[in-house]
Parts: sequence; C-alpha cells; structure tokens
Amino acid sequence: MPATPAWPPKSAPRLFVAETLAAGLSVRIEGNPAHYLARVMRVDAGDTVILCDDVTGEWAARVSDVGKRDVTLAVAELLREREAVPDLWLCAGLLKKDRFDLVLEKATELGAARIQPMLTRRCVADKLNLERARAITVEAAEQCARTALPELCAPVKLDALLAAWPEGRALFFADENGGEPAAQAFAAHAGPAAILTGPEGGFDEAERASIRAHPAARAVSLGPRILRGETASLAALAVWMARAGDW
Ligand code: SAH
Repeated sequence: MPATPAWPPKSAPRLFVAETLAAGLSVRIEGNPAHYLARVMRVDAGDTVILCDDVTGEWAARVSDVGKRDVTLAVAELLREREAVPDLWLCAGLLKKDRFDLVLEKATELGAARIQPMLTRRCVADKLNLERARAITVEAAEQCARTALPELCAPVKLDALLAAWPEGRALFFADENGGEPAAQAFAAHAGPAAILTGPEGGFDEAERASIRAHPAARAVSLGPRILRGETASLAALAVWMARAGDW
C-alpha cells in the first residue's frame, strides 16, 4: 500500500497574515502576498497554503478563490501552536544596508526572540527602514518555518539602551579585545539574555567602558580573529542556540 501522503504538503506556500487565525475563518490576501501566491506559486482553488499569524500558530488553509488582485483562503486546522523561542535578544550595531539585511535574515533563521538595532558613535549607517526590515524578517520566518516572528525594534542609541536595561536580563558583550570564551559564558547562564555586538568600526573606548561598567554586562570573546559585525552577531547566536538546546 502506498504511504499516506502527508497533509499539508511540505511544499505548500507559507505566509504570515495580519489577522488572528481560527478554524472556519475566511482570509483575503491582497498586494504582494497575493501576487506571490497566484503568480509565483500558481495556487488554484482547492490548493493548500500554510498560514501563520504570530499569535496562535500555524494553520492549514485551502484556497477558495483566486481573483485578479486577491486570493481568498478558508482556514482549516491548526497544525502547530506558536513556538516558544529561547529568550535571547540580539542587540546589534547598525551596519550598512546589505550587511544588516543579512543580520535580520539570519538572526530570524537562527531563532532570536528580539532584534534590537543599535546606534553607536562609529555606526556608518544611521537609519533603518523598519517596514523593509520587518519584511525581511517575515520572509525569513516563512522560509525557515518559524511560527513566532522575532520582535523587531526601532534603532536606539547605545546609551539609551543601557540606561533602560531590564532587570534580570544578562548582557553578553561581544568584545574583540577579549573576555570569557562565549561558549563557556553562555553555558554557565540560565534565563533571559542578550548578545551585544558592535558596528563595522567597533565601539570607541568610552562606549566600551560604559558597557563594561553596566551591572548586567559580561564581556565575551568569539575567538582570536576579529569578525565583521554581521559574522560576530550570527556566530554568537549560533553558539547560544547550541547551548540552549535549540539546535
Ligand atoms: N574594532 C574593530 C572591528 C569591529 S568588529 C575595528 O576597529 O575595526 C565588529 C564587532 O564584532 C565588534 O564591535 C564586536 O562586538 C564583535 N567582534 C568581532 N570579533 C570579535 C571577537 N573575536 N570576539 C568578540 N567580539 C567580536
């Protein structure tokens, strides 16, 4: 007897939507996502699409109608509840556009709970198009089958971030000048945490001193080589996730 086909198919398109999903709900998709479903993925009435809402989780839905500019879906059944990702923030110095795009995409894939872009004295970039940045994280989440989007925050100045640092959250400062080996420091910690990495030019001495002086901060090393900002962020996340059992 042939094996029962898995339903929904693994290849079904995945999409985050703005409304909170429930069985029986009819969802109308417009704009770019509708174009993606109808023209790129070429869905037809009866096809399955996987919908996520970042609230309840992941649902199977059936295409009920493909219009010129919209696609209508009927939500069928909950496939997975919204996942819990490790409580880890990435506070990353803002980088030039392409480099930071990479951080947004990969940090989402790696499972960061929050991405906090940070402005420091040596940042070359000083602006982030939040809408575009959010679209990158949503696309990455769809691609890697994350059911919980990372929380993407507007850029803040390093000083403001440190001043408002929440009690009880460890701040692992990636310092190329040295610190405890990251894998060791992460392994010894349980509870909420954040990884802090600098921009292209790193931190200046005053910034480094104020980070180090912060009660939540612990300097960690990511090895003997000086990594680019994006590499430092992603390598540190990977080491953290390995420790957190999320790998
Ligand atoms: N200070 C350098 C390079 C900065 S690298 C310069 O002057 O050009 C960008 C950021 O990556 C750093 O601020 C630091 O947070 C992180 N980083 C890079 N290599 C690292 C390492 N070996 N250990 C810890 N953090 C590192």
